[in-house]
This record gives sequence, C-alpha cells and structure tokens, in this order.
Amino acid sequence: MIALPTYSGETAIFGLGRSGLAAVAALKAAGNQVVAWDDAEAPRLAASDMGAEIRDLTQDFGAAERVIVSPGVPLTHPAPHPVVLAARAAGADILGDMDLFADALAHGDLRDSVTLIGITGTNGKSTTTALVTHMLAVAGQTVHQGGNIGTPVLELPLEAGATYVLELSSYQLDLNRRFAVDIGVWLNLTADHLERHGDMAGYAAAKAHMFAEGKARQARIIGTDDDYGRALADKLSGDAVPLITIGATRADMIYLANAIEVSGPKKDIISLADCAALPGAHNAQNAAAAFAVGQALGISTTQIIKAFKTFGGMAHRLQVIADHAAVTFVNDSKATNMEATRHALAAYHNIYWIAGGRAKTDAAGQLGLDMLTPYFGNIRAAYLIGEAAPLFADNLADNLPTTICGTLDKAVADAALQAKSDHFDTSIVLLSPACASFDQYADFEARGDAFCAAVADWINAEHEMSGKAEGAQ
Ligand code: ADP
Repeated sequence: MIALPTYSGETAIFGLGRSGLAAVAALKAAGNQVVAWDDAEAPRLAASDMGAEIRDLTQDFGAAERVIVSPGVPLTHPAPHPVVLAARAAGADILGDMDLFADALAHGDLRDSVTLIGITGTNGKSTTTALVTHMLAVAGQTVHQGGNIGTPVLELPLEAGATYVLELSSYQLDLNRRFAVDIGVWLNLTADHLERHGDMAGYAAAKAHMFAEGKARQARIIGTDDDYGRALADKLSGDAVPLITIGATRADMIYLANAIEVSGPKKDIISLADCAALPGAHNAQNAAAAFAVGQALGISTTQIIKAFKTFGGMAHRLQVIADHAAVTFVNDSKATNMEATRHALAAYHNIYWIAGGRAKTDAAGQLGLDMLTPYFGNIRAAYLIGEAAPLFADNLADNLPTTICGTLDKAVADAALQAKSDHFDTSIVLLSPACASFDQYADFEARGDAFCAAVADWINAEHEMSGKAEGAQ
C-alpha cells in the first residue's frame, strides 16, 4: 500500500466510494487520526472496520484540519455542499485523493523519479489513458494506470522509475490543486457536467488547473478543435514548456478519419487503418494525443505503431460485440452525451440506432440533437428507450423512422429484426444513447452489459429458429 505521511490533527474523509475507502485505509496505515462519513450505511461500516471514527461531518465538522472529499461533492455549483461550507468555516483544507498521492510521492522522496501523465477532456479520456498505458507497456516501461479509470490512485503501488498514467475528470482537477503532472493532455471540451461547474467557462477553468503556473512542465498536449482548447493553447504558447497541438486542421498533429499527420521537416503519416480498436476520427484524435505523449517520452514511432495495432480497445466504447446475418452489434453505452454519439454516428453507415435514457438537456430544456443532423443520412431508423424516449421522438420523427421501445430488450429485438430484413451488405445495430443511464441502470457499464445480454439472447433465438426450420425440412 501507498505510504502517506502522518498529518497533524484529525483528517476527515467525506464520501466513501472506492477512492474514499482507499484514502481511509492508506491514512490509517500511516497512523493518522481519521474521521469518515458517507450518507450510506454500508461504506460507513467498512470505514469503521478500518479504524476510522464515524461522524456526520455535515452536522459536526469538529476540529478536523483537512477534509478529503469525493469528486462528486460540489464545491461551487449548483451550491457548495454543506461539508464544503463546514470545512471552510472551520478553516480546514479541502483536498482530493490526488493531493494525498502527491504527498505520498513527496514523503517517499519519489517525485523526481516517477513520471506523471494526466489526461483530461470531455470525451476520450479513458480510451486515451488505456492507449497510453498500453503504449508504455509495449515499450517495456513500468507503468501504472489509475485515477478516474479503474484503480484509485491511493491503491497504486509506488515505485521509483515508474510512469503513472492518470485519467483526471474535471471534478478531480477542480479539487486537486496541489497535485502536478509532468505531461498534461487536454483532448477536447464540449458541453457536459454544467450543473456542477455552472457554465462552460467554469468547466474549462476546472480542467485548466492541470496547466496552471508551474504545472505540466515536461509537455503540454492540447486538442484545438474547440474554442476552449484553442484559447488554452494560445495562452500556453508563449511558455518555454513544449506545447503540441492536435486538431482536425492546422495543428502540430493533424488527425484524419484514420491517420495522423505529424508536422516537422519530414511529414510523417501514421496510418490507423490496421488499428481495429481505434475506429473513427475521434479515435484518431485519441491516437494523436497518445502519439504526442510517446514522442515526449522518446518512444520510437515503430513501437508506438505496434502499440496502436495491438491495442484491445475498451468495453462500452464503440465495442463490436457480435456479428450475425451481416448485422454487426456495437456497444457504445459510454456515449452519455451528444458529442460522443455524434462520433459514433459518423463512424458507420446503415445504422439502426438505439438512443435514450436520462436526457442531458440544456437550460432551455433542449436535447442538442441539431449536432447530429449531418449524420442522419447514416441512420436507417431510431429505437428509443428510457425517460427521454418521447423527447427524442418529438425531435427526430420528422427526419427518421422512429420507434419508442421503452426497454433495451425491445429496442434490440426491433432494431435487429429490421436490420436483418433490410438485407444491406453490412449494417450496424448501435447502442449510443447520448443520455445518462441512471433512469434504468446503475451506470453505463450495467446498461452496456444489458445490451450485450439482449444481443446474445436475440442471436440465440435466431439460431434456435433456424435450427427448427432446418429440422422441419
Ligand atoms: P471518457 O473517459 O472521457 O468518458 P471514453 O474514452 O470513455 O471517454 O469515451 C466516451 C465516449 O466518447 C465513447 O462513446 C467514445 O466512443 C466517445 N469518444 C471517445 N473518444 C472521443 C473523442 N476524442 N471525441 C469525442 N468522442 C469520443
């Protein structure tokens, strides 16, 4: 386990998800005085078993000198959480688990012997993080991956010489002010999480903490396809730290539908045509960012390309899960916003599109479907699920054949049957919901798993039917 310092006084933990409990364990192991709280009872019991005192910090903040809050706790919008107000009133530090990770590195005198890579953006963080981790492993380096993906940082082993690839959400960056990476990657910024950051400027400012004065000193890799990325790149361009821009046009690295063009005396073109797990221009953006990280770390182009070709991809992100009767089934359950779905709809033709869930509307109650209009030609029909189905139907029905299915099982059955009957050479049944999952599922993973199960059931039923038909001949 990670070795933390012993802090003065009491340390509070608010929010006992996996990373909160990891913080309790690491703090207790270092002999700290720990008080913890979560609204749910089960994690409170787990923290108590680890030796933490259990106290409702919103009612009685006490003399805690610092509080580690989980990334879901709002600092400013829609209103500061009561625990944040209590901590401020008590003059306590408000920190995140990445700050403790930074303290652990300093405590072990390891900061200068490790490399920290931080990856943020509205979309593509997990894919890029996994791709960079894979690239470093292919290059034979010691690499650990964590943060907003998989393992909480406080559960990662601390090793001199290792590289840590950390996916960082805007919530984490908002919170973790002490923590500084060596290489910072900013992929893109489009509307999401505005309830938490107030507006786009607040959202951009939270993510920009990664590049604040003195941070990300080894390299800054910025996607410049949106105004926020461009503004950040302009702001950082006067600095001595290497800056690599990535964009669909005019940038140091241009990504195309399935290639990356690297500017320089010799204009390298890296083809992504053989990289099965990186379909679509959005994945070329992710690959370009990973390539830039590889270059900053001195990894050879041959090894980077080898890594791209052997990358296994990620579950729930444009994941091909089955093929049956010239119909390919693609699970993109992680597409919880319009921008992510836009990329999915751009990547295929003859799409039987399953969408819906809990809508992410703007302040005017609009879904923002306009951004998908250019891709309607790729869609054969839409199958709508969850709370948002009627709203999607209202917006789509003038342009596309639309069915309100309600459940994922029915949507899969309807979409697959239609795709099969239409007999195109290739067609795609695509779950890319453009909505959150919480109206029907615990999270996007559960929704994606349910899609995979519904597809397997449909294909099994098809096999049974054809078996019966053969038997009857
Ligand atoms: P994140 O961790 O930022 O949510 P993921 O890699 O998990 O990103 O991908 C989330 C969704 O966004 C998936 O539906 C995926 O297909 C789509 N996506 C991936 N990369 C990009 C990108 N660079 N730009 C836009 N959408 C993307």
